[in-house]
Amino acid sequence: MKIQSRLPDVGTSIFSVMSKMALEHGAINLSQGFPDFSIDKTIIDLVHQYMLEGNNQYAPMPGVPLLRQEIARVIKETYNHTVDPETEITVTAGATEGIFAAISAFINPGDEVILFDPAYDSYDPAIRLNGGVPVQINLTYPDFSIDWDLVKKKITKKTRMIMVNTPHNPSGSVLKPNDLLELEKIALINNILVLSDEVYERLIFDGLQHQSALRSPGLASQSISVYSFGKTFHATGWKAGYVVAPQHLTAEIRKTHQFIVFAVNTPVQFALADYLKNPEHYLGLGRFYEAKRNFFLEHIKGSSLEPLPCHGSYFQLMSYRSISGKPDVEMAEELTKKFKVASIPVSVFYKDRTDNRLLRFCFAKKEETLLKACEILRSL
Ligand code: PMP
Ligand code: GLN
Repeated sequence: MKIQSRLPDVGTSIFSVMSKMALEHGAINLSQGFPDFSIDKTIIDLVHQYMLEGNNQYAPMPGVPLLRQEIARVIKETYNHTVDPETEITVTAGATEGIFAAISAFINPGDEVILFDPAYDSYDPAIRLNGGVPVQINLTYPDFSIDWDLVKKKITKKTRMIMVNTPHNPSGSVLKPNDLLELEKIALINNILVLSDEVYERLIFDGLQHQSALRSPGLASQSISVYSFGKTFHATGWKAGYVVAPQHLTAEIRKTHQFIVFAVNTPVQFALADYLKNPEHYLGLGRFYEAKRNFFLEHIKGSSLEPLPCHGSYFQLMSYRSISGKPDVEMAEELTKKFKVASIPVSVFYKDRTDNRLLRFCFAKKEETLLKACEILRSL
């Protein structure tokens, strides 16, 4: 039987490709973004406890109420924004599902969605699967900031949504207060929804403040903000996150969420609700990862790789221009197979495959892992 692919141009995600290559070639894996250290035993014990206590059946579709209440408390404490846990928070199977649920809730065939390249790989396919038209705008190079004049030029009557991501994967750049003001003006004047991917909200360095869409009531009234417990509690494999949006938007998001996964696994939600009660469990994260970034940068000194500024996320971009003129995909492959350090080539995050000869390295790793990798990278 002949089938017609809905995504004929899409292969396997670069994260799977590079992690598999790393495994096959015994390379240190700094490609796919995930920590290689253990998570806090307290939260593992909590999951276990809630399983033993019998919390093993379907959770309520929008999420366990206790967890939504804790999330609302944390949002108030962090962004001074009041959300109703009953009607404005939805627990999702990671941020990926939250993003997909939001796009499928609001994007009708022919609707345009503005996104910024290099962009996280799930955005463009999620838009197209829902009949939307992705409108890519490249971030400026090398600071990876948004050219708002260009954004204004790309807005048409069909523009339904703008997607932003701060701190940014893969570049580690962050939006500034002025960016939020520009975004808010554009969204309100043109009646455009904002999808704000804030999975790295707590991974922000150098004394900077995370610019959440929830900080401003105007922007928040037209925004869907997406978060991931995978990042905040080092448990990417748990695939748990949440989406925050005003009631009338949340109502639509829940319509799609209920048919994508219905609900997120129950014992993890109860455990997260307990664990969130102690702010020590999330407040130190920025300092923790800033130290990792500094450690990585300190030990890579003397290498011919040139680091670009990184103010957030757990990714460090490196330019290899002084070593090789090879395309980044080839360079990443050679580095993995021959030198045994895996990274992610940045061109794959661009629709137009812009290749600035950059590789992305994940520093969410144990010091010993980073030391070994840096020793190799210094020898290039
Ligand atoms: N957005 C960005 C920018 C990410 O880097 C990631 C994952 N690492 C996600 C969304 C997806 O998060 P999750 O694993 O919670 O689905
Ligand atoms: N977000 C992670 C990264 O950027 C990977 C997520 C995934 O593998 N889908 O590396």
